[in-house]
Amino acid sequence: MRIHTQKHFQVINNSTKLSTMPIRYYCSNGSRVSQAQIDKNYRHARAQKYAGMHPGLCHGCNNAPPQGNAHIIAQARCKTLHKAELIWDPKGFFPACGSCNQAIENPKGEAWKELKNINYCLEFIERHDPELFIKFQLQLG
Ligand SMILES: [Zn+2]
Repeated sequence: MRIHTQKHFQVINNSTKLSTMPIRYYCSNGSRVSQAQIDKNYRHARAQKYAGMHPGLCHGCNNAPPQGNAHIIAQARCKTLHKAELIWDPKGFFPACGSCNQAIENPKGEAWKELKNINYCLEFIERHDPELFIKFQLQLG
């Protein structure tokens, strides 16, 4: 009985070890990055892109103060595509207010058509995610 308990403990211990192993996401070149590395690279990319200057108004509407950065291709999608490096590509995000951030994330909506930087966004999407690009194209009818 004692041995059995011991074994059981061992199994729990092993599964705990497994669950604490960091998940890694693929980049285009086959290398893999942890979420911590993604966060660090993205932080550096923002610092480089804005170089200490205030980003100004939201690039989507040129009308509202940005609440953060919108990823042209959502971070989760970049991971699914095995193109995690797009998350920290300085061309892949822009200062955005909440509604413009939502607009670019929803190809089936209408709001993205009003974005001032939509041509820039669509070029980026076409280059890196043709499947998503088609979703936007279909909405144009
Ligand atoms: Zn905006």
